[in-house]
Amino acid sequence: MSVLLEFRDVEASYGGAIAALHGVSLSLAEGEFAALLGANGAGKTTLLKAASNLLPAERGRISAGHILFDGQDVTAHDPGDHLRRGLVPVLEGRRCFKNLTIEENLITGAIGRGLRRTSIAQGLEQVYDLFPRLKERRKVAAGLTSGGEQQMAAIGRGLMARPRLFVLDEPSMGLAPLVVTEIFEALTRLNVETGLTLLVAEQNSAVALKHAHNATVIENGRSVLQGRAADLAARSDIRDSYLGGA
Ligand code: ATP
Repeated sequence: MSVLLEFRDVEASYGGAIAALHGVSLSLAEGEFAALLGANGAGKTTLLKAASNLLPAERGRISAGHILFDGQDVTAHDPGDHLRRGLVPVLEGRRCFKNLTIEENLITGAIGRGLRRTSIAQGLEQVYDLFPRLKERRKVAAGLTSGGEQQMAAIGRGLMARPRLFVLDEPSMGLAPLVVTEIFEALTRLNVETGLTLLVAEQNSAVALKHAHNATVIENGRSVLQGRAADLAARSDIRDSYLGGA
C-alpha cells in the first residue's frame, strides 16, 4: 500500500523559541486508520497542524525534518492547496457556524473545496446516511444543537470536502461515552466502506485503540512508541506509562 503521509524526524517550534515537536517520525499508508495518542500538551495538535502546513498561521514553523503528503513536501503548499488535494483537517473540535443551520454548515465544507451542486447533493446524502441525526436536525441552527450533533456536523463538513486523508483532533472531547462510540463507529465505517485514510489524535486512548489499526504515542514532542493498536491496548505497562491507565 502506498504511503500517503510521512513525517521524518520533524521538529517544530512556535515563535522561534518554544519547541513543541522534537523529532517525530511516522508513516501513514493509504487506507489506514491511525491514532495519535498522548497527554495534554504532548504535541498532538501541533503535529496535526504541521501536516496541513497550518503552523505559520500561528507563528510556528517546522525547524527540521520533512513532512510529505502524497509524496510532496507539505511546506510547499498552502492549507487551501492541501484541502483541494484531499488533506482535510477537522482541528478545532466542533467549531460550527452557530447561526447557520446544520445543513448550511455542511455545505460550507464543499464550498471550501470548490465543489458543484451534484457533488454537494451526493455529499449531503453520504453525511446523512452516516449520521441520521443530522438529517433530522438539518434545518436547526447549529448553535441550538447538542455538543454531539455539533461534532457530527464538524466531521460531516470535513467529509463534504471529499478527503483522501481525514485529520481529526480529539473528536471525543467533552462528549458522552455513547456519542463517542457513535462517532468512532462512523469513522470506522468510513474507513471500511470507502477506504478513507484517517489520522485521529485522542486523549481517550481506550476508544482510539479499539477502533484504529495502528497508533503512535507522543510524549513531550517525541514519538516514543508505535505499533498495532490491538498490541498496544493489550500491554498494561504501556497503558500505565503513557496512556494514563486508560
Ligand atoms: P492538547 O491535548 O492540550 O491540545 P497537544 O498534545 O495537542 O495537547 P499541543 O497543543 O500540540 O499539544 O502543544 C504542544 C506544546 O506546544 C505545548 O507546550 C503548548 O503549550 C505549545 N503550543 C501549542 N500551540 C502553541 C502556540 N500557538 N503558540 C505557542 N506555543 C504553543
